[in-house]
Amino acid sequence: CGIFAYLNYHVPRTRREILEILLKGLRRLEYRGYDSAGVGIDRGNEKEWESNAKSIQLIKQRGKVKVLDEEIHKQQDLDMDVEFDVHLGIAHTRWATHGVPSPLNSHPHRSDKNNEFIVIHNGIITNYKDLKKFLESKGYEFESETDTETIAKLVKYIYDNREGDEVSFATLVEQVTQQLEGAFALVFKSVHYPGEAVVTRRGSPLLIGVRSDHKLSTDHIPVLYRSAGKDKKTCTALPRTDQDTCLFPVDEKAVEYYFASDASAVIEHTNRVIFLEDDDVAAVMDGRLSIHRIKRNIGDYPARAIQTLQ
Ligand code: GLU
Repeated sequence: CGIFAYLNYHVPRTRREILEILLKGLRRLEYRGYDSAGVGIDRGNEKEWESNAKSIQLIKQRGKVKVLDEEIHKQQDLDMDVEFDVHLGIAHTRWATHGVPSPLNSHPHRSDKNNEFIVIHNGIITNYKDLKKFLESKGYEFESETDTETIAKLVKYIYDNREGDEVSFATLVEQVTQQLEGAFALVFKSVHYPGEAVVTRRGSPLLIGVRSDHKLSTDHIPVLYRSAGKDKKTCTALPRTDQDTCLFPVDEKAVEYYFASDASAVIEHTNRVIFLEDDDVAAVMDGRLSIHRIKRNIGDYPARAIQTLQ
């Protein structure tokens, strides 16, 4: 099982290029073993995303990455030459733990029929039955047999019940992780947060590769801590000043991020990586990466260093 995701920010990429990068990433993770594979990308073109007609396309298949590759090339309505200046694509190979290998049980999983939120997951959610029961009681309809689908529904539930419009994607995911038990590496994508990525892990590996031609502003990303009891402003808005959290690199610069279970999938693109630790919530917003943590004391955890792989 493996996770691979790619975010290009002010680096124009055609859909064909994006899909090729995703498939290549999955192929590098093939040795980990899997029974199904899938991707989630933007549907339509960038203009449609800007004009609010945002939607996400999921392509999922049982079998090898090759089967997924063939399925992708069968998609008649996907214009492969469309270019995206900013885009997040996510990809997954599944080792089924809950539910048989099938297209429907494959990842990404979705919050609803409109694919408002999608998620890929490696690991096992041990309390998924309780979460599922709760979400079903709130009217959420499940379509797969997986533990993972509860995460996709839960993030939408939290979004639908948010207070105010200012809630950041990272905050939503932080709230999701507080409800989860078990092991996970997760990557989230949403039509409500175009061009943004939020990833987190506990017990399953996840790292971030960073590629930029610009000089990086720092080699460390201090982790931002929040305590649950703080006033709403601090809790819901992603801080934008250097004092709150180190945002990197600086605004408006071209940058690419790779999220993967294993460095072998990233190394051909960049050797600058950050290994996430348990309960880190990393978010890319406006092309800038920040890492958050809600529990524990700030003194316990040093900044996340950006390592250079040899
Ligand atoms: N538990 C999830 C599933 O069965 C994720 C498995 C994996 O790590 O690939 O779909």
